[in-house]
Amino acid sequence: MKQKIGNFGADPLPVTFIAASALCKYGKRFYYAFEILSVLPGRRNMGKPAQPCLETEFSEIIFQTIQKKLGQKESKGQGFQEAILPVFQEVLEFSQTIIRELERAGQSPGVACQSGCSYCCHSQVNIIPIEALAICAFIKTDFTAGQIITLNAGISRARSLTAGKTFNQVYAIKDELPCVFLNAGKCSIYTMRPSICRSWNSFDAGACKAAYNSLDAESSVGASQARNFVFGTTRDLFEQLSASLSLQSTTLLLHNAMFDCLNSSDPLGHWADGDDVFRYA
Ligand code: SF4
Repeated sequence: MKQKIGNFGADPLPVTFIAASALCKYGKRFYYAFEILSVLPGRRNMGKPAQPCLETEFSEIIFQTIQKKLGQKESKGQGFQEAILPVFQEVLEFSQTIIRELERAGQSPGVACQSGCSYCCHSQVNIIPIEALAICAFIKTDFTAGQIITLNAGISRARSLTAGKTFNQVYAIKDELPCVFLNAGKCSIYTMRPSICRSWNSFDAGACKAAYNSLDAESSVGASQARNFVFGTTRDLFEQLSASLSLQSTTLLLHNAMFDCLNSSDPLGHWADGDDVFRYA
């Protein structure tokens, strides 16, 4: 498949169905390996999204995994607010394992992405609120005071450089706008990076370099459909789950989401109560 560079995840991901049968095969195996307990009635009426993003078996597996993991945590006395971020991380790791196994088994081609290559980290990254909350929690436990000062400076700079500009105007100054989490060519939140950063990939680092240097926001590179499919589905389902609970769910620019999160005294609590934590898309 071809994947446009420049704007990570602003639009629905171009999810494809190719590899769906292989994904279902592996997804099922891992699903049963979870030894999932019977689902207890939820404190909140989570409900199934009225219109799942994909009417596929794989989408159903991921949805049921989310639901049952929430049920498991609730059976241990954890409320929704306490359980949702660990469940989100566990499901992301589940999705990551599926991709790793597909590529190891030759069911999906490997990609060229590796540590130190960061052309795509100059794109405009879009995330959903639950991802922002997970990243924020990670920052509060793992970042030093100095890292947080540097991060806040980067967020202020990004907000100031992008304010009032169109996508193409921002794209034209992408050299000046590395991701606020990019540090010496590496992602400083790698284990908690957004699903779109896991989804975006390339078969050829040289093509990424050429696309980056072309100054054409419509440039595209060849990329793995399986990664796009798995992480796109995962993100879509958490977005729909949030929406079904009347919680903020729409996509946000990463630096704006971080600004709102880091300036809230209790972003997760407010979000889980249905408050508007995120004011800037
Ligand atoms: S979050 Fe990490 S992987 Fe994603 S764009 Fe930023 S630095 Fe790159």
